[in-house]
Amino acid sequence: MKNYSFTINGEAISTENVFDVKNPATGTLLGYASNATKDHVEAAIDAAKVAQPAWAAKSDTERKNVLMQVAQVLTDNTDYLAKWITQEQGKPLAGPGSMFEMEACVGWTQVPASLDLPVEVVFEDDSRRDEMHRKPVGVVGAITPWNWPLMIAIWQIIPALRAGNTVVLKPSEYTTIGTLEMIRLMNTVLPAGVLNTISGGGEVGAMLVEHKDVDKIMFTGSASTARKIIEASSGNMARLTLECGGNDAAIILPGTDIQSKVGDLFWGAFINMGQTCACAKRLYVHEDDYDNVVEALDAVAAQMPMGNGMDEGILLGPIQNKMQYDKVNDLVEDAKANGASVIRGGKSMGGPGYFYPITLLGNVDNGIRIVDEEQFGPVLPIIKYKTVDEAIQKANDTKTGLGGSVWGDDLSLAAKIASRIEAGTVWINQHGAIHPMVPFGGVKDSGYGVEFGVEGLKAVTQPQIISIKKTTLAEA
Ligand code: NAD
Repeated sequence: MKNYSFTINGEAISTENVFDVKNPATGTLLGYASNATKDHVEAAIDAAKVAQPAWAAKSDTERKNVLMQVAQVLTDNTDYLAKWITQEQGKPLAGPGSMFEMEACVGWTQVPASLDLPVEVVFEDDSRRDEMHRKPVGVVGAITPWNWPLMIAIWQIIPALRAGNTVVLKPSEYTTIGTLEMIRLMNTVLPAGVLNTISGGGEVGAMLVEHKDVDKIMFTGSASTARKIIEASSGNMARLTLECGGNDAAIILPGTDIQSKVGDLFWGAFINMGQTCACAKRLYVHEDDYDNVVEALDAVAAQMPMGNGMDEGILLGPIQNKMQYDKVNDLVEDAKANGASVIRGGKSMGGPGYFYPITLLGNVDNGIRIVDEEQFGPVLPIIKYKTVDEAIQKANDTKTGLGGSVWGDDLSLAAKIASRIEAGTVWINQHGAIHPMVPFGGVKDSGYGVEFGVEGLKAVTQPQIISIKKTTLAEA
């Protein structure tokens, strides 16, 4: 069984101290990845620090060209990397699965690569001219989760490189190999040291975020880990972009035509088996529409084939890991014990693999854990409301604020309701519809800072003001 290397300064490094990477659909071992030591973390950060000035000194055009070559490498290796995503993470090759994730990797490379941050004249009069220039921050430490492993790595890496930073990335210990392989391939066109990886568990991530030479952390993962990173940043003053989880509410306005929207609603809740930061995780439905909505969602769920994502025609895979599988089980059992009615699913399917059926729960409300906590799995609690005000109040009754959605036929009314939801993004008649040009980030415990678009690019720079005194006629 192969031991997959991480990449430091363009070189493949592996150790004898390895960990297993397993297929969540079958439980079989896929390969080993190396546990990086403190010396590896030091070496990776050092390589990034040494490579950074020359990378930043390249012209914008040169960096753009190299990143477009990276996009080509990703395109050329789509099949290989998509198979890694499916085998390691579980999402199927088909549908909104791993081929879709690879398309996103290419798009989220090409778009930031093509963006510019021109010098802004922020003030000018007869006596002075003040310009804002955007400089790279330096060495970026990137930490990724296991749900969209390659796409989220790309979200963190590409804007950082475009702006002239260099990167050290630690992938999730659950989905390590695909990311290590993607970065090995990207290194075939990047200068040595510009993009490095180290692998291992949270302790390796901690060594990275605490290091004195790391200038910025891009983190996607849980709020509890984000808090540890905030504490670590008191030492090195690293700038932080923190993308944590959410417990997104979707509100269907009274009388909405559901048939035209139910497909989007289903995938808004169940893409990647609900293991998506900005999935619809609670659904609020007017009491008069409840039966219609339940019937429509149930009918879509009934048509969705679940299985090993390498098999043709499969649209839903397993839950990625045992910890998450146990959490989903626990939340559903708790809901049932508290009177939830099971509309569909509601019971684990047994092994091999962490398969759990699409689950729709009724007779639930705020105050039950399945509604109050992020399930990050294939379970949707459907909550009846009497008034839209009540639905908004319940939607906002959470410590997180990543996304939300409003579903309705009157778009201007839906937009008014959307503006009352406390979340970084509120979609109308879609959920989780991110785009590489549109800033994305959370409020409350969902983190801070934004990714994507021009705002996301700014987030991996620091402003420098060049303030020029003008020579006046009197002085001349
Ligand atoms: P996690 O916080 O357990 O792990 C994320 C990463 O942090 C892993 O690579 C892990 O090894 C690393 N890590 C753990 N301890 C660390 C430490 N002390 N210092 C530095 N790094 C450390 O999260 P997870 O279980 O992998 O991901 C699931 C969570 O991520 C969910 O809450 C989900 O909603 C969230 N998420 C958010 C977004 C977003 O964009 N907002 C996207 C995807 C996932």
